[in-house]
Amino acid sequence: MDLGIAGRRALVTAASKGLGRGCALALAEAGVHLTINARTKGPLEETAQALRDMGVEVTAVAADITTESGRAEVLDAAGAVDILVTNAGGPPPGLWSEWSRDDFIAALDANMLTPVALMQACLPGMMERGWGRVVNITSQSVRAPIPQLGLSNAARTGLTGFVAGTARQVAPKGVTINNLLPGIHDTDRAVSLDGGAAKAEGITPEEARTRREGTIPARRYGTAEEFGRTCAFLCSVHAGFIVGQNLLADGGATNLTM
Ligand code: NAP
Repeated sequence: MDLGIAGRRALVTAASKGLGRGCALALAEAGVHLTINARTKGPLEETAQALRDMGVEVTAVAADITTESGRAEVLDAAGAVDILVTNAGGPPPGLWSEWSRDDFIAALDANMLTPVALMQACLPGMMERGWGRVVNITSQSVRAPIPQLGLSNAARTGLTGFVAGTARQVAPKGVTINNLLPGIHDTDRAVSLDGGAAKAEGITPEEARTRREGTIPARRYGTAEEFGRTCAFLCSVHAGFIVGQNLLADGGATNLTM
């Protein structure tokens, strides 16, 4: 399927690895020029080169997207973007009774206020030009809480509320905002969460993974490639009537009727 977005310009944050990288690759596949970001230069440059090899223009900015100065640098390099995919690292696991105010502020900064600030920066231009797509990478924890990821449950639900109200205000100008909710995917983040679970339960990381796979109706972890292509579809011309939705990509793991 031709996604109809070749030649458009996209900003994908936190995109040197994992799900962000998957989204950048799928957008490049559709002919979209990219600005990508992450904090560590080496992997960022590797991903930038892989994208350039696909024939699109790529700007890579090494910066912490959760800081005001990092965002300013990234937004400045990106210029006018038609497509914004927001992403950042997820908060650490822990126990509800142990998180401090600082832990909550850090999670809110990374997983709520950063995507909000990026949208506030990019939406006016999209609306003026009469076309735009925003996809926020959030989490299945928005639909059903994950006990040890209370910081993620809290911060991402705040973002979801902001998107629900804002998506309806920008849609008249041809701009859509949607959230893409990953369940467990085969990335460094998953490996680290499996490592934590293994340590807590006295089993190996492989056992932790097998156990978790058994709880997913699809009986496997998702891949960054399939997640990225789902994101690219939401950014396509065909998805213009999908507004303010929260799309689960979780292999059926979240047990819901709707
Ligand atoms: P990942 O494989 O660990 O990759 C994270 C990417 O984000 C890397 O490129 C990393 O590069 C970059 N990054 C992290 N913090 C950043 C920051 N402050 N500024 C700029 N770039 C930053 O993670 P992932 O699995 O793709 O997860 C992406 C998001 O989806 C996370 O928020 C995660 O919590 C959420 N999620 C993931 C899963 C899953 O199963 N994978 C499930 C649900 C939700 P640098 O470290 O070099 O900055």
